[in-house]
Amino acid sequence: MPRGGRRPNSGPKKGAKYKNTKLARQIADSMGVNAIQTFCIILQRKAPCGTCIDKDGKPTGKTWARAEDGKDYQRVCQSCWGTLLERVDLPTWLKAAEGLAKYTYTTLKAVEHTGEDGGAIEHEVTVKYLK
Ligand SMILES: [Zn+2]
Repeated sequence: MPRGGRRPNSGPKKGAKYKNTKLARQIADSMGVNAIQTFCIILQRKAPCGTCIDKDGKPTGKTWARAEDGKDYQRVCQSCWGTLLERVDLPTWLKAAEGLAKYTYTTLKAVEHTGEDGGAIEHEVTVKYLK
């Protein structure tokens, strides 16, 4: 059996490998969602507050609360405290950094170099002297 190299008819069929990736990207594009942009927004802590949103999904900085007398009143959003921005804790921030790094940096892989049967790599050098 030949060692190494490409074997005929091996691996995924042409176009099959990225079928799901393409579909996922088409769906995200059609919805105006960009994963890399989302990672950056989270890393900059500029994600809009998801608690005090109005009917259009825009943060207002205020939420409704009920007083002891049963009356509703508006108060400063207890999640963003009026900043209109989502609080991003360190684990979430690190996850976003990790996610973005996958797209922006190549991953280094450990490559083991050994000779036959795990031994040392043997080299043979022939020196040819020219006149
Ligand atoms: Zn808020």
